[in-house]
Amino acid sequence: MKKKETAHCSFCLRPKEEVKMLIAGQEGHICETCVSQAQTLVEEELHAPVKRYKFALANSMKPRAIKEFLDTYVIGQDEAKKILSVAVYNHYKRLNQKTSEDVEIEKSNIMVVGRTGTGKTLLARSIAKFLNVPFAIVDATVFTEAGYVGEDVESILSRLLQVCNYDVAAAEKGIVYIDEIDKIARKGDNPSITRDVSGEGVQQALLKMLEGTEVMVPPQGGRKHPEQKMVKVNTQNILFICGGAFDGIEKIIARRTDTQLIGFKRHDDNVTTDRENLLQYIAPQDLKNFGLIPELIGRLPVLTHLDPLDADVLRAILVQPKNAIIKQYKQLFEIEDINLVIDDTVLDFIVEKAIDFKLGARGLRSICEALLTDAMFELPSNAGVKDFHLTLDYAVSKFNQSKLSLLKIAS
Ligand code: ADP
Repeated sequence: MKKKETAHCSFCLRPKEEVKMLIAGQEGHICETCVSQAQTLVEEELHAPVKRYKFALANSMKPRAIKEFLDTYVIGQDEAKKILSVAVYNHYKRLNQKTSEDVEIEKSNIMVVGRTGTGKTLLARSIAKFLNVPFAIVDATVFTEAGYVGEDVESILSRLLQVCNYDVAAAEKGIVYIDEIDKIARKGDNPSITRDVSGEGVQQALLKMLEGTEVMVPPQGGRKHPEQKMVKVNTQNILFICGGAFDGIEKIIARRTDTQLIGFKRHDDNVTTDRENLLQYIAPQDLKNFGLIPELIGRLPVLTHLDPLDADVLRAILVQPKNAIIKQYKQLFEIEDINLVIDDTVLDFIVEKAIDFKLGARGLRSICEALLTDAMFELPSNAGVKDFHLTLDYAVSKFNQSKLSLLKIAS
């Protein structure tokens, strides 16, 4: 094709005469209109990544697909993954229900109980990655009853609004994960001794929000709406997922299951209680005995648990997930052009120490850090090193030199 003789915009091809301004580049020109369009694109993509939410039911949203996605990030925890996948899928179905339909699908907020470091937050985050609805993670520990130091529960919705850039209609169909819900359990049986401003009062405040109501939300730091004091948000279609470790609830479960076993004569001796994983028997009454008020429990009808992590799972967590810890370290070394080789015995050692710490998968990273910090400090300055081999001897010596080994002695 013959090249145009006169100077023109290389993007819209308009000639010099038809534009106000042409900026010359190495091999072409750009006009003022195209600059401004490009600027808008850049703003949209980089500076204000306004997410376009999709609430429509898609084939890729089927529970099996959601679970398969979760499998790439979270090891084990099959029951919780299944329950969450179904709940999230049903949430979409609910959002797409025609108002004319007779049967109104009610929302099923979810309660996830699991020891610390077993993947509650990871599950929530992974779901958020998958979904195309506004998703916020909030911590229940900061809430107090209105009028006391702390945050009002309404700030849960502020977070959701912030996530979706104050698109109220989108926020009203979002999902909220409330972490550490066990921290708002009633402290003690007699609330009259001291006022329980971060316990029962907060639970009461949460009730209405979980069920579905119109809440006046302070946009909080809302630079986008400086003139606006409050935003009205309807929570009827917001799905709430609550998670907590509920330390000590195993005792409550044990007491209940033992009583049941005595009261209910079992002929089948094969049915035994798995004492290592009592959380799998969790029932709503255990939450009540822990200190959650029945009304709140009633608004969280889907109850599931996370299994404690045994050695096999911990080992899998080290190497299998998409961004497994070991993969991350290999990547860090690769950036220095160093091939990191870790012996299998070292992985077993890391797992063994993580179990000693009883910190679930959380301990894995600190242990890896203790083993590899010296290497990561020295190697970048040693030009020519192409391989680093982490042997068991090296690992044991580094671990013993680290502060972690002192922790072990202290515990
Ligand atoms: P919590 O249950 O206390 O919310 P987290 O989800 O924060 O625990 O887990 C802490 C870290 O442990 C995560 O960042 C993740 O790397 C790892 N982890 C925990 N459980 C799993 C799991 N089941 N699969 C993969 N990684 C896990």
